[in-house]
Amino acid sequence: MHMQYKRLLKTFLELVRIDSPSGREEKVIKYVVSALGSIGAKYSVDKEGNIYTALGDKNFNPVLLSCHLDTVESGGSIVPVVTKNGVIRSKTNTILGADNKVAVAITLEILRLISEQKIKSRVEAVFSTREETDGGIRKFDFKKVQSNIGIVADRAAPLGGIVMSSPSILDFDIKIKGKSAHCAVPEKGINALTATTYLLSNLKTGKIDRHTTLNIGLIKGGTAVNTIPESVFLSGSLRSFSNKSFEKVQRRIKVLLKNTKRDYNIKYDGNFDLYCRGYNYKKTDKAVKRVIYALRRVKVKPKFEVSFGASDANAFVEHGIKVVNINDGSKYAHTSKESISISSLNKLFDIYIEYVKAEII
Ligand SMILES: [Zn+2]
Repeated sequence: MHMQYKRLLKTFLELVRIDSPSGREEKVIKYVVSALGSIGAKYSVDKEGNIYTALGDKNFNPVLLSCHLDTVESGGSIVPVVTKNGVIRSKTNTILGADNKVAVAITLEILRLISEQKIKSRVEAVFSTREETDGGIRKFDFKKVQSNIGIVADRAAPLGGIVMSSPSILDFDIKIKGKSAHCAVPEKGINALTATTYLLSNLKTGKIDRHTTLNIGLIKGGTAVNTIPESVFLSGSLRSFSNKSFEKVQRRIKVLLKNTKRDYNIKYDGNFDLYCRGYNYKKTDKAVKRVIYALRRVKVKPKFEVSFGASDANAFVEHGIKVVNINDGSKYAHTSKESISISSLNKLFDIYIEYVKAEII
């Protein structure tokens, strides 16, 4: 085993042992910052905990390596094991945290190889927080970044996959407010639940069209069996690859809210938070071509895929930095079956090495 693979495995296993669910990334930030210190890379940490660093020869066009430090709730202390077939998984019923510690470990090892002059390149890296929840990256100072292109390996699927399209995502909360009254005198109240029922029965959810999905995932309301429900809270998520359809569904929700107010005499509060903008790449985009080049160098066949999920790539693209999300070779992310083989881990590392070395731009 090459020394560089050995080091990668050690770093990865150390990283997954550090519990870092979204919002509680302090310990892993400390680890990464100390690793950057020993590598000799200058870095900065912002209020959100996002770490930025840059390293290497300034004569090269820089590329950005993006990864996130947090995980979903782990379910306990993570103890990684390597099976005799060379697969890394959790010893107990926790997640492994390959999402996204695989990319964190590889990014650190790439920086180490650059500092040892084993790779000649210019690399910037952003280690973000709360990717799994509200996205610490959204408050990152994108002006720091010099790179026009970059990669993030944040998709648990076989190596070779390149995410060509990702949707815009809007998460929203709606509060429908009526007036409570004893159930014996319903005429004194305004039933928020009746109004909500009207709203929901007139709102198409699920697959809206070829490009768009709408989900109402949370419903809360009412206070007692003998009380007219005063308030109902709804939370949902709208995802679309088409801006037109994305705007149309939003307008539809807002019109329905107005009609519900008019017909049922309720009040409402709507909080519509654009989580991220979508993007569509072409195979001829420089950002994608460099990934294809790297994959071919290590004899992995590129596959062009569409994802209904988002990643930090969306935030970078929104700020003009064409970051491409690629498959990381892991399996069953966010579950206790999460795993990655050592051969996939090493292969992904090879892809990164070829990617940062490439001088086709
Ligand atoms: Zn992830």
